Amino acid sequence: MEALSEREVEELRADLVQLLGELRAQLASSAAAARPVDLSEPIGRVSRMDAMQQQSMAQANRASAKLRVQQAEAALARVERDGYGACQGCGDEVGFQRLKARPEAPFCLACQSLRERRSPG
Ligand SMILES: [Zn+2]
Repeated sequence: MEALSEREVEELRADLVQLLGELRAQLASSAAAARPVDLSEPIGRVSRMDAMQQQSMAQANRASAKLRVQQAEAALARVERDGYGACQGCGDEVGFQRLKARPEAPFCLACQSLRERRSPG
C-alpha cells in the first residue's frame, strides 16, 4: 500500500474535523433519548417497552459515536505528528480508500478483521 501524499493527508484531516463535528452534534442531540426510561411515567406497558427499546438503541448508537470520537481525535493527533495513515497494529499503510471511507480507522483491513474475529461483538 502506498503512503499518503500530503494532499491526501490534508483532505483526510478535513474529513476528520468534519466527522468530529457531526459525531459531537449527534451525541449532543441524542443525550435525552439515551436517558433511562422513567418507570413511574404512566405511558402504558407497550409504549414503555417501546421507549426502553428506543433507549437501548440510542445508548448503543451513542457508545459507537463516542468510540468514533475517540478514534477520530487519536487520528487527528497522528496527523499532527506525521504518523497518520500507518496501521496501529502492523505499521503498514492503511490506504487512502479505506481512510476516505473511515478517516478515523486506526487499523488496516487485515488487522481490523483479525480483531473483529478475536473479539466478537
Ligand atoms: Zn495492520
